[in-house]
Amino acid sequence: MALYNVDGIVIRVRNFQEADKIVVLLTREEGKVEAVARGARRPRNRLAAATQLFSHVRAQLFSGRSLDTLSQAEIVESFRQLREDLVRMAYATYACELADALLPERQRQEAPFLLLLTSLHLWSEPDRDPEPLLRAYELKLLSMLGFRPSLAACVGCGSEAVQQGGGVRFAPVLGGVLCPQCPDEGEGAMRLSLGALESMKRLLDGDIRRAHMVRLSGELAAEIDRALSAYILARTERRLKSKEFLDALRSSKG
Ligand SMILES: [Zn+2]
Repeated sequence: MALYNVDGIVIRVRNFQEADKIVVLLTREEGKVEAVARGARRPRNRLAAATQLFSHVRAQLFSGRSLDTLSQAEIVESFRQLREDLVRMAYATYACELADALLPERQRQEAPFLLLLTSLHLWSEPDRDPEPLLRAYELKLLSMLGFRPSLAACVGCGSEAVQQGGGVRFAPVLGGVLCPQCPDEGEGAMRLSLGALESMKRLLDGDIRRAHMVRLSGELAAEIDRALSAYILARTERRLKSKEFLDALRSSKG
């Protein structure tokens, strides 16, 4: 058995056997890694706290034939603030589930780890609108994983003359905007206002630490949510439970 060390974030936890947990870590070194944490459900177990959702840990693992084993984990940041606030917890949980859904196992790539870590820190800060940060996180994660939406050039012909009336056509399944001449191939296109398109461009290419500066009013936020949700669903091919929970929470708050 080989021993290895990672810097990782717990993005999924489930119970296993009587007292164990299976955790999925998004790591800096190895990408997404799944491991069993033996005894981690016993309150006094040394792995109990480190194997909670969102925990940023430095961990030591043994690689096994079918499943790796988490042997040691030291907490760098527990993100307790995220667990104590239902709304922030809902955003962060969805961010973790989205990374889990989009990333294949063991794809060595540091950027998604750094993006999630930065986002968890930003969601922990009070008085910061969590919504634009979520949109920036989604767009940047998609982009890192090869699913960058085409927001300037038509996905059909590459033309940059995509404006039609006061907006553009956005085809989630095809991967971006369509010019007035190109057909939607029966995949369905939705109308996007120029304001929504500009906000998405800023969130995609701007510094995520400044995402909260992009003001998303009710209508603009709803428009971007429709477009991005459809875009993401076409890539994950399943609805994420945490997204449904977040949507329900947002609509209950008006
Ligand atoms: Zn075109």
